[in-house]
Amino acid sequence: MKTVPDFWFEPHPWINGSWQPGSESVTVSNPATGSPLAQVTRASAAQVNLAIEGAAKVFTEWRQRSAVERGNILKRIATLLLERKDPLARLLTAEQGKPYPQAVAEIEYSASFFQWFGEEARRLYGRVVPHPEADREFIIEHKPIGVAGLITPWNFPLAQAAKKISAALAAGCTAVWKPAEATPLIALAVAPLFREAGVPDGAIQIVPGRGSVIGNLFADHPAVRVLSLTGSTSTGSSLMAAASRSIKRVSLELGGNAPFIILPDADLAFAAEQLCRLKLFVSGQVCVTANRIFVHSDVVAKFIDLVAQRLSSAHVGNGLIDGVDSGPLIHQHACTEVGTLVEQSLQAGARCVVSNRSYEADRGNAAGAFYPPTLLTDVKDDMPIAQQEIFGPIIPVLQYIDYSDVVQRANATPYGLAGYVFGGDISRCRAIASGLDVGIVGVNEWRPLKAEIPFGGVKQSGIGAEGGEEGIREFLDTQVISLPKPKY
Ligand code: NAD
Repeated sequence: MKTVPDFWFEPHPWINGSWQPGSESVTVSNPATGSPLAQVTRASAAQVNLAIEGAAKVFTEWRQRSAVERGNILKRIATLLLERKDPLARLLTAEQGKPYPQAVAEIEYSASFFQWFGEEARRLYGRVVPHPEADREFIIEHKPIGVAGLITPWNFPLAQAAKKISAALAAGCTAVWKPAEATPLIALAVAPLFREAGVPDGAIQIVPGRGSVIGNLFADHPAVRVLSLTGSTSTGSSLMAAASRSIKRVSLELGGNAPFIILPDADLAFAAEQLCRLKLFVSGQVCVTANRIFVHSDVVAKFIDLVAQRLSSAHVGNGLIDGVDSGPLIHQHACTEVGTLVEQSLQAGARCVVSNRSYEADRGNAAGAFYPPTLLTDVKDDMPIAQQEIFGPIIPVLQYIDYSDVVQRANATPYGLAGYVFGGDISRCRAIASGLDVGIVGVNEWRPLKAEIPFGGVKQSGIGAEGGEEGIREFLDTQVISLPKPKY
């Protein structure tokens, strides 16, 4: 069994290069055991404003550094994250609940964004455009927008922030980061790494606190020029309303309701394995997780058998224990919400084929926020479980007969984040993937996300993108300079 590391950081807001005790103190607990990990102080309103002003002050200096220098600092952050991945991953597992190997993968994934944007920093190309008048020309430049207000969720408490911080710093922006209430420790733990890598004090500030309070402080401060949120669609809507008061740019990565489509010629054993991996990953608390499994009626019985075998053999428990496949949910309230969706489905005619309660064998899990990975069949499109984001380890299976019908049903949701298609005929997979109204599709693949590609939702799943060459644009303004053409 792995242990919770000794803390090398203080559980207070990180402002201008040091931890500064905040106002209200809140307990952060391990969701697998219910035991407290730390008392974290929240940033007061005055501290949030101080953090924004500190970030605004250093912005002038940071943006003037060469792109190569900014990029090298970002790449050093990546190196430091990888060097410290063991204690960081143990802390992440203790605070968030995901199994230790998944926490290691999150640190590596986070580092990949610092590497990627460390390289992209030197590719902020502008262009020269011919003017309609012969003696003039246009220069188009991309310039850092200013201070960014970053708000992140608890499911990937480091990776969601890494995507934003790396792009913002690469663009020449500075940022104030508000981590989720449930997972502030990993944020405070990486603060000294930024400093060690050479990020100037004040360029990344970390202010734990309540979302609505800090979101409003960000929205109302004139120095904050962009609000970047990863969170639920309802939070995105509130933040957008707040941002409208002073017309700030918003970049939103929101909720999903991903279809996972099994074609009749799919390799069913492979697809079942990939589906179970996806649904056990962070216990299904992932925006891109499969929410509706559409299986062709010719193969549904066999597919359900394969998924049932795999799901019932998974080891659910404390993520610090070796060999655990799936951890707890983030808190007991999440278990109640997921349980309500399952109950509603059963009452409406769905059937429970697997409910994996392997965590009950360990008495140490008794006070943990566990919910059994569950396989439901006979699910219908109009059941709440097929219409809402589940955010838990539930596999709801729906049947279809016709390809065009399945695409239409998959798109019949206000969300549009991710989709999955499993099949043997790649042309058909591709045609179905193209028909899905979502930001990313994995064909015969459960985890297509990488730093190299733009990831963002359509419809109510978001605005903008993270990663790829597009991710940096969220933090840039475009300026045109029209000037006389130099003559020799
Ligand atoms: P959440 O929306 O409750 O909270 C996310 C963050 O927003 C937290 O830091 C929270 O404190 C803050 N917040 C809450 N209310 C706010 C407000 N009114 N103004 C400003 N900030 C506010 O989401 P969560 O429960 O932490 O995370 C789960 C949700 O995040 C799911 O819906 C999931 O799909 C979504 N998510 C999306 C992506 C993506 O890339 N699209 C990735 C991960 C999670």
